[in-house]
Amino acid sequence: MDAKGTDLAIIQTRALAKAYRMGEVEVAALNGVSVTVQRGEFVSVMGQSGSGKSTFMNLLGCLDRPTSGTYHLEGHDVSRLTSDQLAEIRNRSIGFVFQGFNLLAKMTAVQNVELPMLYAGVAPAERRRRARAALASVGLDRRMEHRPAEMSGGQQQRVAIARALAGEPAMILADEPTGNLDSASSNEIMEIFRDLNSRRGITIVTVTHEPDVAAWTQRTIVFRDGRVAGEA
Ligand code: ADP
Ligand code: MG
Repeated sequence: MDAKGTDLAIIQTRALAKAYRMGEVEVAALNGVSVTVQRGEFVSVMGQSGSGKSTFMNLLGCLDRPTSGTYHLEGHDVSRLTSDQLAEIRNRSIGFVFQGFNLLAKMTAVQNVELPMLYAGVAPAERRRRARAALASVGLDRRMEHRPAEMSGGQQQRVAIARALAGEPAMILADEPTGNLDSASSNEIMEIFRDLNSRRGITIVTVTHEPDVAAWTQRTIVFRDGRVAGEA
């Protein structure tokens, strides 16, 4: 163990649980999940619809708080932080990629990538420089001024990956990033993830329904009924 603790697991959950209250009924979305992910791993999460994958990802991404259990992110217990503290960690450490791309339609690719940096207070010239570099790294140097409607689904998802990258995250969390894409575009996205993982050491956790997509990753965690059913 080095002095800075940099060899600590990036993700460590213990007995993580999340219940949603729906009127009188409580839905146990997550039922005691203990998972460790080391820095630099490339992991997929699989499981049937409703098995708790998105709930788990939302907790990992500090978008939500668990009902019980603990979550250590980079060695810090983040399970009991306030919303503001969670937002700060989110902005500093985590890049998100979603199934629906979540780009703003009226903005160009480079403006979409710059937006989180604008909120984070990064100076304009630095924002533009980082956005261009991130778009170039996903092969979109010639699409900087295109709006989402002028790009394919695969290109839009690459813009979303560039937006995640521009924040220089320690890890990327992707919830069904290839769910809206054909298989050629899906492979493009997974190839980008593989390169970001192997060349830059970015930890990546991605949810998928498809074994072909999971096959790109080093390790697959299978969820069933809000629990870890096994690993492949
Ligand atoms: P998955 O991503 O594997 O399809 P989810 O994590 O979205 O699964 O959902 C797990 C369970 O929790 C499901 O039964 C779902 O209906 C329930 N659930 C998810 N989000 C909410 C919510 N905001 N309110 C109530 N129930 C929810
Ligand atoms: Mg889901």
